Amino acid sequence: MKAARYHGVGDIRFDDIPEPIAGPGQVKVRVHFNGLCGSDLHEYYHAPMMAPITPHPLTGVSVPVVLGHEFSGEVVAIGSEVDGLSVGDAVAVEPTVNCRRCAACLAGSYNLCSSIAAVGYSWAGGGGLGQYAVVDADHVYRLPDGMSTRDGALIEPLAVALHAVHRGDVAPGNSVAVHGAGPIGIGVFLALRAIGIEDITVIEPSAARRAAIEAVGATKVIDPNETDVVAELRAHTDGAGVARSFETAGVPATFLNAVRSTARHGRVVVVAVHQKPVEFNPTEILFNECEIVGSIAYCRDYPETIELMARGAYPLESWVQTIAFEDLITDGFGPLKDQTAIKILVDMTAVG
Ligand SMILES: [Zn+2]
Ligand SMILES: [Zn+2]
Repeated sequence: MKAARYHGVGDIRFDDIPEPIAGPGQVKVRVHFNGLCGSDLHEYYHAPMMAPITPHPLTGVSVPVVLGHEFSGEVVAIGSEVDGLSVGDAVAVEPTVNCRRCAACLAGSYNLCSSIAAVGYSWAGGGGLGQYAVVDADHVYRLPDGMSTRDGALIEPLAVALHAVHRGDVAPGNSVAVHGAGPIGIGVFLALRAIGIEDITVIEPSAARRAAIEAVGATKVIDPNETDVVAELRAHTDGAGVARSFETAGVPATFLNAVRSTARHGRVVVVAVHQKPVEFNPTEILFNECEIVGSIAYCRDYPETIELMARGAYPLESWVQTIAFEDLITDGFGPLKDQTAIKILVDMTAVG
C-alpha cells in the first residue's frame, strides 16, 4: 500500500509498504480522510517530538513511521475477539495508544499514560496517511447515520478542544476568552457555544483566522496587534477579568495575556504546545488565586464530541478544506505553515 512516512526533519516519503494485518482485538480500516495537525508540522519543519528516533518503550516502533493521527474510514477486516463492529462500518479512530497498566491508566486517565504512544507517530499498524491502518477495536468509534467520513476525520481535533473545555470546568454564565483561532481555538469556541456559553471573546492576530471564527458565529473577536488584550478583557468584565481563559496559540505573549486577564479564582487552560519558555513571575497568580491547568489530547471525550457533531453544533465548512494525497507537502504542509489555511484534510479515498 502507499503511505506517507516520516523519516526525519524535512523528509517525508511516499513509500510502498505491506498492508498491516488485524491481530486479536484489532480492526483494519481503509482510510478515507486524514487531518493534518500542528504536531505533524512540528515534526516536519522543526524536530521529531512524537516520532521516536529510538524504539518506543511501549510499541518498539522507531522512524520511519506512517504519519496521520486524525482519521476516519471504513472497517475492511476484523481480528478475533472483536465485538460490536462490522465490515463496512464508517468509523473514526482515537489514535492514542496506552499501556493499560501504569498508575495513570489504572486511574482512568489514559491520556496521561506514562508510556503513551500514538497511531500516526509510534505505532506499527500504520496511520491515517496510509491507505490502511490497523488499530485496537476499543479505540474505534462508529459514525452515526448521516455523518460523512470527511466530518469524521475532524472528531479528533474537536475532542482535543472539548477535553480542554472540560478541563476549564466552565460554568453557565462565565465570561470566557479564547486566545487563538486556529483549529483548536475554533473547536474550543464551538464547544463553549454548544454547552451554552454566550460571553466569549476571541483573540487572534491573523485576519484570515478572525474571519474564519466569525464565520462560525464568533461576535467579539479582537486583534491583539490593535487592541490591548488585558485592558480590553478587564474593561469588558467591569475590571474583574474573565472567568476562564483558553490558551490555544502557544506563544509567550498569549500565555501572559491569558494569565493577566483572568479573574480572581479564575482558570487558565493551556492546550497549546509552546516552542519557547515563557518568562513569568508566579507571584502574578498569588494575588488573584488563579489556576493554570494543562490539557492534553482526550480521555473518553469522543462520544460527547460525536454527539455534539451529530446534533449540528459544529459548523465544519468555512474553516476546513480537502486536498489530494499526492499534494500533501505543497498543498498541505505549506499553507498550514504560512497560516493561509486553518484545517486541511487529506482525501485518501482515491489513493491506490
Ligand atoms: Zn492532531
Ligand atoms: Zn499507561
